[in-house]
Amino acid sequence: MTTLTKTEDAPAPTGPESFLSVRDLRVQFSTEDGIVKAVDGLSFDIERGKTLGIVGESGSGKSVTNLTILGLHNPRSTTVDGEIVLDGKELVTASDKELEKLRGNKMAMIFQDPLTALSPYYTVGRQLSEPYMKHMGASKKEAKDRAIQMLEKVGIPQPKVRFDDYPHQFSGGMRQRAMIAMALMCDPELLIADEPTTALDVTVQAQILDLLKDLQQEFGSAIIFITHDLGVIANMADDLLVMYAGRAVERGTVKEVLGTPKHPYTWGLLSSMPRLDGDIHQELTPIPGTPPSLLNPPSGCRFNPRCAYTDKVEGDLCTTARPPLADGRAAACHLTAEQKQAIFIDEIQPRLR
Ligand code: ADP
Ligand code: MG
Repeated sequence: MTTLTKTEDAPAPTGPESFLSVRDLRVQFSTEDGIVKAVDGLSFDIERGKTLGIVGESGSGKSVTNLTILGLHNPRSTTVDGEIVLDGKELVTASDKELEKLRGNKMAMIFQDPLTALSPYYTVGRQLSEPYMKHMGASKKEAKDRAIQMLEKVGIPQPKVRFDDYPHQFSGGMRQRAMIAMALMCDPELLIADEPTTALDVTVQAQILDLLKDLQQEFGSAIIFITHDLGVIANMADDLLVMYAGRAVERGTVKEVLGTPKHPYTWGLLSSMPRLDGDIHQELTPIPGTPPSLLNPPSGCRFNPRCAYTDKVEGDLCTTARPPLADGRAAACHLTAEQKQAIFIDEIQPRLR
């Protein structure tokens, strides 16, 4: 084989603007029951200063994707393939040491469950200030001041006193806020927020979202935001990625995906979620069936067993061929562009109004 051929086979170069680029990511877990194909050929990009929203039913691979970006998967039971490039640095092949360093100041995550991030054995203050000293070269006093300031920003009352508390002395909501403070301590350039505000009341939630926006404005940080709340997506995100069973099925700007969704799964998802205007009379229609087992997922399009439109597609494409997701605004579905538009206008749009 000549080197020329090799160049031709190389993946498309990452655009200069892409701060995080994920290419054909595959994450598999070896379990007693077999191999779980949790993420199966996922690609997306984020630019600096932008927020990417990710939506999808529970089990679609949102958390696994993001834990993998941070390198927090268990290397013994997990196989990771593909590319994750953060600001020019390849993360899939990076060493534990390199990843640990990046997790300190370059990227941080707000977890779904605060107990994932907070250790029960150390005070909250210590857990906030130690990484700051280590990664920013700050003194103990500087780190303490910064931690108290961050605790105050996330709405912890009496932050000076609370600095010395252990996580178990905090309520659930306060633990979540402390974890958010921890993620923001070192002004991360990539912040991953995995359903960060689900347990918080609306006032605190608004406060936290403002904090994330401040971070973004000041440092041009890129944010990945996972949530079931379309209002939060519309408020926070620039682009939206819809995931189903470990794959991206639709992508576009938030306006495009929420305004004129193109994938039958997105149609189902939007019909099953409360709309942005909070109309309590709106009827929610759940998607029939359940997400597939990722031990033995359906062939072709993974959504085909639950899709109402497979009979409109010629032959057995839906059950045999994986529909590709093109670049930019796209939906991975075998329906033609005309079919998608006609179905959306005739059947879906009236339901979403
Ligand atoms: P989401 O965050 O979208 O709700 P996850 O990313 O947590 O979904 O999970 C994706 C799939 O991977 C699920 O089917 C889940 O059961 C599976 N999974 C996650 N972690 C593991 C693990 N450590 N071992 C085996 N399966 C896992
Ligand atoms: Mg999750």
